[in-house]
Amino acid sequence: MERRTFIRLVAGMLVLAAFLIPAAADAGQPRRHTVLVDPAHGGDDSGVVADKLREKDLTLRIALLMQEEAQKAEDLQVRLTRNADRALTTDERIKAAGDPRPECVISLHINAGFGKQANGYEVYFPGFAPEGSREGGSSPVLKDMAKNRSLNDSVRLAQQIQSALETVFPRKGRGLREAPNALLSGLSIPGLVVEIGFATNQQERERLTGEATQRAVARALVKGIREYFRGAP
Ligand SMILES: [Zn+2]
Repeated sequence: MERRTFIRLVAGMLVLAAFLIPAAADAGQPRRHTVLVDPAHGGDDSGVVADKLREKDLTLRIALLMQEEAQKAEDLQVRLTRNADRALTTDERIKAAGDPRPECVISLHINAGFGKQANGYEVYFPGFAPEGSREGGSSPVLKDMAKNRSLNDSVRLAQQIQSALETVFPRKGRGLREAPNALLSGLSIPGLVVEIGFATNQQERERLTGEATQRAVARALVKGIREYFRGAP
């Protein structure tokens, strides 16, 4: 190859690269957000048991379906605290969050009690005061600010999850509640506990054991989480 031709070729390639590299960056995948999904209970700890329904199985099933649903989306990755039937301590669940920390966490439970008539879903966020103390006032201001920010995000996430679940269980929302939670405070990221429905209510139990409802719940939760990330400042 003639020297001049070679130089032209290299120059041409450089120009082409200058066009292609930013284009490739723009056309690249949207940012993938990471959510930690915690299928509560597992192993020796079955959670609520009613008829053939075991809380630990149902939470795992929905968590795995959430992971599957998220794979269809380009902007969300679901990390699980467990993907099999095994018992985990809160510390092990926190460890399973991995590094870097996911941006938010959702712990899945199935409700029980309040009589056989009780039904519907509940969403809990961790609350303002530290666990075991409703007094507060002694924490450093900066820590409080970070906590409040995380709390605001938890509330925003809760609102998105509520409106997404409303499409699966219309008018079954039992409201947004506040309760301290060891996993959520241990992770110090925005998070929620979602009580998906009542195992002790026969109608709801039958619905929840159906594959169609499980998938609809998983899809709704993923939709709610994606909406939350879309609205993130
Ligand atoms: Zn539970």
